[in-house]
Amino acid sequence: MLWKGDLKMHKTYEMVIGLEVHVELKTESKIFCGCSTRFGQEPNTQVCPVCLGLPGSLPVLNEKVVEFAVIAGLTTNCEITEVGKQDRKNYFYPDLAKAYQISQYDQPLCKRGFVEVEDKDVSKKIGITRIHIEEDAGKLVHNKELGTLIDYNRAGVPLVEIVSEPDIRSANEAKLYLQKLRGILLYTGISDCKMNEGSFRCDVNLSIRKKGDSTLGTRTEMKNLNSFSSIQRAIEHEFTRQIKILETGGTVVQETRRWEQDKNKSVSMRTKEDAHDYRYFPDPDLLPIIIENTYIKALEAGLPELPDAKKHKYMSSYDLSVFDAEQIALDLEVAEFFEKTLACYDQPKLIANVLISEVLKLKGKTEDIIKISPVDFAGLIQLIDTGVINTSISKKVIDMMWLEGLSAEAIVKRESLQLITDEAELITYIKPVLEKYDKIVKDYLGGKDKAIQSLVGQVMRVTHGKADPEKTLKLIDALIKEI
Ligand code: ADP
Ligand code: MG
Ligand code: ZN
Repeated sequence: MLWKGDLKMHKTYEMVIGLEVHVELKTESKIFCGCSTRFGQEPNTQVCPVCLGLPGSLPVLNEKVVEFAVIAGLTTNCEITEVGKQDRKNYFYPDLAKAYQISQYDQPLCKRGFVEVEDKDVSKKIGITRIHIEEDAGKLVHNKELGTLIDYNRAGVPLVEIVSEPDIRSANEAKLYLQKLRGILLYTGISDCKMNEGSFRCDVNLSIRKKGDSTLGTRTEMKNLNSFSSIQRAIEHEFTRQIKILETGGTVVQETRRWEQDKNKSVSMRTKEDAHDYRYFPDPDLLPIIIENTYIKALEAGLPELPDAKKHKYMSSYDLSVFDAEQIALDLEVAEFFEKTLACYDQPKLIANVLISEVLKLKGKTEDIIKISPVDFAGLIQLIDTGVINTSISKKVIDMMWLEGLSAEAIVKRESLQLITDEAELITYIKPVLEKYDKIVKDYLGGKDKAIQSLVGQVMRVTHGKADPEKTLKLIDALIKEI
């Protein structure tokens, strides 16, 4: 996938990324009418003259949308506007019945915020330019036999668009920013942020420039990115594509490109419009949105503890590294799981380590839920902490707990996975190893200290990893010196 000249070029060029994230808000009804927002219903069963854009129908703003957008702003350190305005963004598209989208142009509800990310223990603030409210469009359904059909159920579902500053410099930073943003929104409950259902969608704006330059290059915008991994791949791919263009004397054109996941490449969709192409103008059917300070204060008072606050608490109370604390705090389910486990067994660092290295991995592979209980997990931690099993065997145990829903103790017993700590028993495994590998024993005696590790490895092999490694090492050393 990467271009041959890639590594050399990375030294010369840097990528500059700004992200636009569309988030569907979890309101009961749509933004300008009373139709339901429920996902996955029969096509065109949740529609009315307003969201179908019939002439003469009038929009009435759903107050909940303003509330949720202000919450999005407050939790991303934005200023909340005093007077918001709604504007028509004109363009023709079959899934946009009115031929304009009601959005916000120059007076968005929230401005100038930031989100903090932790990249390998280095904190960085990614600026948020604006957060505005708008209506979602309908959905085109391409059917082989029937042709292209339109489902208007999604038309009028409320969105916030969160636009970042061009502060992001790598694919990893983009992922960290999106994970953080998603984490915050999930904590507040204003969206379910399901990437696979389209309630958290991201467009990537990317340009390149020579390192050290301060002016921005020409950007492209990529759409159709529906997972964290496709976003990362699309970024790497676009970075390389633009470098190739500049290095061969070409110029990057400002355009919208579509990422094709299966083919692992992007294709041009259209040259990019500028804001003036949309002929924005204030929507005459909607009043200004006046947001009073008391309203903001009341919403602020109702906010839950957010990922950053939890992160700092974990660092100061449990001495977790900033990276570990962030990983746990980011996801409300994981944070609650951590806290509940801790309430059962008070070993925060050990819990954090096993949680991050094993549980998060399994959670990512399944349907993004934790399939073991905090009580059972605490039981596993206790077995590790008291030396009944070690962390490498614990991986096997967690896998089985996940699948079978049994406690760690039951699995360790059934599979007899407990470490062999009894010295007499260990010696019965060690002696034959020392006889068989007498050459290595000689090396060790001759001063090659590291040789002992391979003897420990051989004992591990015959005991299927169950020999207590520390005791085994000591016993081998003692036995060799006796010879
Ligand atoms: P549009 O609707 O035209 O895409 P927006 O203002 O909504 O414009 O979004 C522009 C996005 O592109 C922002 O996230 C911004 O940070 C980013 N951006 C703007 N210029 C550049 C550039 N030269 N390189 C990379 N990203 C850019
Ligand atoms: Mg855009
Ligand atoms: Zn409707």
